[in-house]
Amino acid sequence: MTKTVHIIGAGLSGLVAATELLKKGYHVTLIDKEPRQAIGGQAYWSFGGLFLVNSKVQRRYGVKDSYELALNDWLGSAQFDRLDGEDYWAEQWAKAYVKFATYEKEDYLNRMGVKLTPILGWAERGGASASGHGNSVPRFHITWGTGPGLVEPFSNYVLQQEQEGRVTFLPRHQVTSIDIEDNQVRHISGNILEDSDVERGTPSSRQVIDTFSYDVEHLVITSGGIGANIELIKKYWPKRLGQAPEHMIQGVPDSTDGRLIGISENAGVNIVNKDRMWHYTEGVKNHSPIWTQHGIRIIPGPSSMWFDAEGHRMSAPDYPGFDTLHTLETIMKTGYDYSWFILTEDIIKKEFVLSGSEQNPDLTNKDIQLLIKERLSKQATSPVNAFMEKGEDFVVADDLGTLVKKMNELVDDDLLKYEDIKAEIKSRDLQITNSFSKDPQVAFIHNARQFLGDKIVRTAKPKPFLSNQSGKLIAVKLNIISRKTLGGIQTDLDGRAINQQREPIQGLYAAGEASGFGGGGLHGYRALEGTFLGGCIFSGIRAAEGIDKHNL
Ligand SMILES: Cc1cc2nc3c(=O)[nH]c(=O)nc-3n(C[C@H](O)[C@H](O)[C@H](O)COP(=O)(O)OP(=O)(O)OC[C@H]3O[C@@H](n4cnc5c(N)ncnc54)[C@H](O)[C@@H]3O)c2cc1C
Repeated sequence: MTKTVHIIGAGLSGLVAATELLKKGYHVTLIDKEPRQAIGGQAYWSFGGLFLVNSKVQRRYGVKDSYELALNDWLGSAQFDRLDGEDYWAEQWAKAYVKFATYEKEDYLNRMGVKLTPILGWAERGGASASGHGNSVPRFHITWGTGPGLVEPFSNYVLQQEQEGRVTFLPRHQVTSIDIEDNQVRHISGNILEDSDVERGTPSSRQVIDTFSYDVEHLVITSGGIGANIELIKKYWPKRLGQAPEHMIQGVPDSTDGRLIGISENAGVNIVNKDRMWHYTEGVKNHSPIWTQHGIRIIPGPSSMWFDAEGHRMSAPDYPGFDTLHTLETIMKTGYDYSWFILTEDIIKKEFVLSGSEQNPDLTNKDIQLLIKERLSKQATSPVNAFMEKGEDFVVADDLGTLVKKMNELVDDDLLKYEDIKAEIKSRDLQITNSFSKDPQVAFIHNARQFLGDKIVRTAKPKPFLSNQSGKLIAVKLNIISRKTLGGIQTDLDGRAINQQREPIQGLYAAGEASGFGGGGLHGYRALEGTFLGGCIFSGIRAAEGIDKHNL
């Protein structure tokens, strides 16, 4: 008899688990509180950045990468320090995941019909030491079609199997309770929400029209993280990152409410590493918001100068794109929850990429003509231009005096002193024309330009800011923007959820962000980027394999 597996969450991890289970002959009941048109969850909105090790694209650029180097980078970033408890499975997952990213991921994506662009980015460059945080080499690969290009091969397959009667898809079903008895998952129940035809990503109605309850034998929790639940983020905000920000913008759709993690905990599931999260420091308010407090993250190249709210220039490793959490800590310890980029038109044109599928229509729509026009022209991309024109966090001026005045006006304060900022920029300008420099950021810029990918599309030619050679001056007020949950449901290597006595629970599995992307937090404290989507894929596969292995 065909066995049914229930999956809560139709995001990427749920869709991967469903795909793999269907391939193994199972029937899948896919449950999600959002409307049918929101299938794909966060991944649809993502930039589609993927961490791969020793890939074809890397080799084409002459980048020398290996499992050993990547694992050293991973462990240097993760800094697992709870090995006899919360990190017990997480560390094992980390090693298994780096192996997957080195030897299997590219082929798997290829088989699924996911294509990569030739663009290779260098995210989280580190900047502290060889044994510390960061990617030693560029590893951020971009999916052709961004998030939708990654999601659709899975969602199309699952929806096609629905037509064949092998999938029961239940949108607008919000799970509010999971019952575990005698260490075996038994039932789930919840609310049926009224139909909603809102556009994907737009908050949908919470109006309850009925309730439901199902007996379950095998259940996979793929309900995502807590990125849209600012209250929970503040509750679990770790003291090591300073004060929780008073104001945060939201980098994920409202559907990422994190409630099912608490519901699982109440049912007896072990939730670990709640204090580990991944939020960005380069958030700008969306001029055309889709979800609540909708923020967009700038993925910056290395040349903008970074100042704190009082106008002090930040120092190593707090440079654009180097060490997200260190920078977050530095900012939060200033007592303010924002900071500033100061840059030039030349830099914004070459170095600003906005994260998110809708902010990259050329890549998302696989439009080669638009891609050539946008990425290889001397202008900023249209979405970046739109932010310069309409974004409330952007300030543009012909001279530094006017720029600083406008920056102070934007925050309605006089924290920034023209003379101090001018002195910092002048000192930097004196260093910039040498191919060697005592300024670490300038040295990093020269280093970045050794990599062809950076030189062509990502790192502007070093020039003084105050020489009128680089166009207008620009300042961007950077907000803290929520995104990923690094902890979550603890799972063993078969994806089985662990109970509070550290035993696997019969029939209960978890994958994706709800499980800290595997094991309850395979990133440890810090991520190397592009590792989240891949973590959803890997943990989705592992959960499906685990079900098959333990389905006696
Ligand atoms: C703008 C943006 C850009 C990003 N860019 C990248 C990138 O370039 N590279 C990268 O690696 N990662 C990126 N990410 C992160 C990545 O997209 C997410 O971590 C990943 O998609 C999470 O997938 P998931 O399946 O675990 O969860 P989700 O996508 O959050 O899906 C969870 C699903 O569960 C449903 N659900 C939740 N609770 C319940 C409940 N109680 N009952 C029923 N259903 C429920 C939700 O409605 C949702 O559909 C980005 C994210 C965003 C938002």
